[in-house]
Amino acid sequence: MVAQLPDPIKIVRRAGDVRIHTFISSFTDDNIANATHIIESRNKLVLVDGQFLVPYALQFREYAAGIGKQIERIYLSHRHPDHWFGLGAAFSDIPIFALPETIAFLKQHGEDSLKDHWKMGNLAPKSLIIPEQTVRAGEEIIDGVKYVFDEVVDTEIDFLLTIGLPDLGVFIAQDLIYSGTHLYLTKYMEHWIGILQHMLLSDYDIFLPGHGFPADKNEVARNIEYLSVAMEAVGKGLASDAFKQFMIERFPERKCPAIFDIYMPRLFDNASEF
Ligand SMILES: [Zn+2]
Repeated sequence: MVAQLPDPIKIVRRAGDVRIHTFISSFTDDNIANATHIIESRNKLVLVDGQFLVPYALQFREYAAGIGKQIERIYLSHRHPDHWFGLGAAFSDIPIFALPETIAFLKQHGEDSLKDHWKMGNLAPKSLIIPEQTVRAGEEIIDGVKYVFDEVVDTEIDFLLTIGLPDLGVFIAQDLIYSGTHLYLTKYMEHWIGILQHMLLSDYDIFLPGHGFPADKNEVARNIEYLSVAMEAVGKGLASDAFKQFMIERFPERKCPAIFDIYMPRLFDNASEF
């Protein structure tokens, strides 16, 4: 279901003539609070991710248009459908950048992934957009703002693009952290914890997640705790519904339990990656 109005849109940080905006889809029903972001600099907008469901992708585009500056480009953080489906609905005219592995996966499996989601009906886009521009680890100045790109492997996804904005203290972590919501778990939990511990030592103080509200280091630490508890439960043999029930009881404050049903077939039953 799609809520009548968009859930919160936040200005996360202002510094000089740069503003960081976060747009979050609904936390209710079967939604998973997809968070997409805008770096607004003096003349341009840079977007991160394209939302999942068509109505939210359109709302995100409308919000960006309302700022009144040219959308220079979009960075796609990774290949999970809840981050790129919306690109086909609302951003087909914008240059899209992604890691080479993400582009290769979408070329190979993107159409299958779209077909696999036929039950979504009009909430899924009609067509697929494959990012054509490659981004690699390194630094770039865009419209006067310093961007630090990194490629993180084997966490919530095999290949993830992160974007640091060191002059703003903002780190766009996307699905390395789930802010206030249940995490999408993978077999890489131990390595993932190591990456989060590294983030705790960084100079960044705002961490933008792929799901939920902008986070601080406390939330990063809570994600480490969540992963540690989940690893221990899996180690004890908890699986599927028993695992879900255990995690919901252990973390009653976290929202968006719909995510369990998305990842559990992959974590416990070897379902396909898309
Ligand atoms: Zn996600």
